[in-house]
Amino acid sequence: MNTARAWEVLGTVPDPEVPVISVVELGIVREVMVDAEGAVEVVITPTYSGCPAMFEIEKDVRHALEAAGASTVTVRTVLSPAWTTDWIPASAREKLRAYGIAPPGPADRGGLVSLVRARPPVACPWCGSTQTTLQSEFGSTACKAIHVCGSCRQPFDEFKAI
Ligand SMILES: [Zn+2]
Repeated sequence: MNTARAWEVLGTVPDPEVPVISVVELGIVREVMVDAEGAVEVVITPTYSGCPAMFEIEKDVRHALEAAGASTVTVRTVLSPAWTTDWIPASAREKLRAYGIAPPGPADRGGLVSLVRARPPVACPWCGSTQTTLQSEFGSTACKAIHVCGSCRQPFDEFKAI
C-alpha cells in the first residue's frame, strides 16, 4: 500500500450521512501517510462538532484500509483548523445537487450575527428556483436544514455552510 492507493481507497468510503459523496469529497481527510511496512495513518478533521457519524467514519476508514492490505491503520483527529464546508470540492457539490441536497453556500464566519441576518435564498436542487422557504433549521440530521420550493413544491435538504 502506498499513499496514492490509500487515497484511492478512502475515495470509496462513503459519508454515512450523505452516501453519494465520499469522506474525501466531504473534505475531512487532511493527510494520509503510509510507511515502508504498510502502516497507514489518516488525519481527519471532524465536521460538525458532536456529529455521531464521526465514529462510523473512523470505523469505515479503518475497515476499508485494512481490507485493502494496510498492516495497521491509525486514525488521528485534528480539530484545528476547523473543518468548513468550503473544503467540499465543486465536483462533490454537483453530486449533492443531483442527489437533491442543496450544496452549502460560502462559509459564513459571522458567528451569532449571521444567525439573525437574513440568508440569501437557497436554490432548489430540483428546479433551480430561488423562490424557496426555510422550513426548519434541522433536517434529517443536524447538519442539514429543510427548505420548501415555491415553484415545484418539493421539500429539500440544504447542507448547511459552516
Ligand atoms: Zn423547485
